[in-house]
Amino acid sequence: MPQVIEWVSPGPEDIVWRYPNENIEWGAQLIVREYEVAVFFRDGKAYDVLGPGRHTLTTANLPLLTAVLSRIAGYPTTPFKATVIFVSTKQFRGMFGGRTQTSELAPLMFRGSYWFKVADPKVFVVEVVGGQSLYTSQEVSEFVRGFINERLIKFLAGYDLATVFTRVDEVSFKAKAFVLEELRRIGLELIDLKFEGIDTTPEYRDRLFWLRQTGAAAYVLQMDTAKEVARELGKSPGAAVGAGVVMIPPLLAPPPAQPPAAAAPAAAPAAAAPAAPPTKACPQCGRQAPIDALFCPYCGYRFPPPSRKCPSCGRDVPGDAAFCPYCGTRLQ
Ligand SMILES: [Zn+2]
Ligand SMILES: [Zn+2]
Repeated sequence: MPQVIEWVSPGPEDIVWRYPNENIEWGAQLIVREYEVAVFFRDGKAYDVLGPGRHTLTTANLPLLTAVLSRIAGYPTTPFKATVIFVSTKQFRGMFGGRTQTSELAPLMFRGSYWFKVADPKVFVVEVVGGQSLYTSQEVSEFVRGFINERLIKFLAGYDLATVFTRVDEVSFKAKAFVLEELRRIGLELIDLKFEGIDTTPEYRDRLFWLRQTGAAAYVLQMDTAKEVARELGKSPGAAVGAGVVMIPPLLAPPPAQPPAAAAPAAAPAAAAPAAPPTKACPQCGRQAPIDALFCPYCGYRFPPPSRKCPSCGRDVPGDAAFCPYCGTRLQ
């Protein structure tokens, strides 16, 4: 009886399965079903990938692995050592959700759904499954969720509160593009990503109201509380809505250089407000973005990532380089 290697009855949520025996015989029967591939993994590297079908394992259908094994003393040996990792190529759904801070440090909660599939099984096995020793579907699902959450936390932190709430479609479109690019690097294809909820605390919700009413973003956000804003402006959200006489300037017009005149007598305490955070000019639209922004909050321009040091040779390399241009070291 030849050895039979197959993923027996995968469940609908199963993304990966590792064949438990790492001793593989030449002549073994490898059975790969539709929407599956089998990846041969050894010493941190992915070699041959076999698609759907019934395969009798020979040096002919495992050329990459054979090339490595042939360099080992005693070749050809049977059995040989390799990990067979089955990967599903079906589409999976997951839920993301997290908490971050906007560029002006306002709390921001978000949640939603994403749909993805494995696009490059070799990269996926090296970067995620074998690379991180995540051999169960549950571990992989949790890793993907955490990966997406981390990216969204970082991405949304480059936006200010008003932009997130007034240009939701644009922000989520760009968030999706950002996550898509990041997932591609670990062998996954993002099919869709949808925000189902974005919220802030009641305190900042009140501030948003004032932002929309006055357009004085910097001024409103420097006040300690929304109540203070209301007092400064001589109005309260309830009264303003009820009276229906609120002046509504164009949304997010440039903030006035000075607080409104009516607020002047009470403005002394506001002098203690923290200095504006450091900013950098966007080369595309010329407006000021937070110093650590990944994208321009006004036009979406992507700032080049800061350079960093190659851990191997110590030279400065571009922040998004995959390999060190000087010594060839692979950079995360
Ligand atoms: Zn810009
Ligand atoms: Zn280097």
